Amino acid sequence: MAAKRMAFANFFGSKQKTFRPRKRGIFEGTIKFKLHKQANASLNSGIDLQEVVKLPHGEDRNDWIAVHVVDFFNRINMLYGTLCEYCTEQTCPTMSGGPKYDYYWCDGINYKKPTALPAPKYISNLMEWVEEQINDENIFPVKVGVPFPKNFTPTVKKILTRLFRVFVHVYIHHFDKLLALEAEAHVNTCFKHFYYFIKEFELVEKKELEPLREMTERMCHC
Ligand SMILES: [Zn+2]
Repeated sequence: MAAKRMAFANFFGSKQKTFRPRKRGIFEGTIKFKLHKQANASLNSGIDLQEVVKLPHGEDRNDWIAVHVVDFFNRINMLYGTLCEYCTEQTCPTMSGGPKYDYYWCDGINYKKPTALPAPKYISNLMEWVEEQINDENIFPVKVGVPFPKNFTPTVKKILTRLFRVFVHVYIHHFDKLLALEAEAHVNTCFKHFYYFIKEFELVEKKELEPLREMTERMCHC
């Protein structure tokens, strides 16, 4: 039991060797900080997640999306960090999302063609790639008044589509571990929040959601 508690405590933030959650600058006093607080304020109180993802009146859509993308990245990164010792090239030789889906990594730089990789390698590339996008001020402007670029929405769609695949992998291949770590409820909340968000702003294609469709229908009632 003690071991389980340790693992669960680990979930919320101690250092991971491979996956360090990185924060993009969300500074107190800025608009983004305010939105960040607003986005997170109600998460602990069992509030309706489908409601909290909606754009607050008068706020900028892109700012709202940007703070969520950064938060989801940090949370999913931490979530996978908790499981990564159980996700190895031996346990997960491919990045599979169940019997019908296999994902291939392609970033146009190190992997010019879609390439089959073991899941931990795929996810490590994925997290690094997302982190690069988030830290790129040309895509995610930090300073107030700097407009979002034209490629902001397509980039965000790609980021969220890729992050969704981490949920796919975790739910399909490591669900037993989530149960053993007593982390299921926490992950489900994180997933539901993510799912309502991408639906609200139509940021991930329906076909990408297919591997978790049945679970999502049960969990999110939509
Ligand atoms: Zn795995």
